[in-house]
Amino acid sequence: MKRTTGGARKAAAATTGRPRHKAAAPPVEEIFARFAAIEPEPKGELEHVNAYTLLVAVVLSAQATDVGVNKATRALFRLADTPGKMLALGEERVRDLVKTIGLFRNKAKNVILLSQKLVAEHGGEVPDDRAALEALPGVGRKTANVVLNMAFGHPTMAVDTHVFRVSHRLGLSSGKTPEAVERDLVRLVPARYGLHAHHWLILHGRYTCKARNPACERCPVQELCRFEGKTV
Ligand code: SF4
Repeated sequence: MKRTTGGARKAAAATTGRPRHKAAAPPVEEIFARFAAIEPEPKGELEHVNAYTLLVAVVLSAQATDVGVNKATRALFRLADTPGKMLALGEERVRDLVKTIGLFRNKAKNVILLSQKLVAEHGGEVPDDRAALEALPGVGRKTANVVLNMAFGHPTMAVDTHVFRVSHRLGLSSGKTPEAVERDLVRLVPARYGLHAHHWLILHGRYTCKARNPACERCPVQELCRFEGKTV
């Protein structure tokens, strides 16, 4: 059997984000208290002007960066900030406006289809309801969680790649799927941090606890982190 050195294991863990913890129970309260002290009102980085444009932005953001999505949606949302206006714009024009975003053809189609459904079944409004959101074309559980959280104030946990990795590294979850990590976060995160928890984890993962080179030297939860791949 191939032997792996401790250094190699550490490097691999730092790269992949696989959980390698020395102890079981994470200091959840202290972790989120620190995030809250640094950034009491964390905001998502997808630009939007209402619940509908938030929904469209999240649909467009799958496998794309928020920066890239924002560049395209500034022009799009100036022309169409309601389902009715989006339908008037038409699929071809929407496709042209979002063509810099990955998977734009399919996404433009879904934006039109979901707009049709919002007009036909929800009076042109974004529903404050998980099942109704997930029934919209292009909308999965993560997108529904983001909209329920940001547009309607529900303490949902949208698990993207950053939340997944950071949750593992901090020992908040060892779940193998986003749904399993979501369940752990819903169970573990104290209610007073529920509304902002996923934003803190996303921002921490995006700017500090990065996939390949986590900036552990400036990490606010460094001594609370039991991830063996940490760099300090
Ligand atoms: S110390 Fe901080 S940045 Fe480093 S792995 Fe742990 S949570 Fe991530």
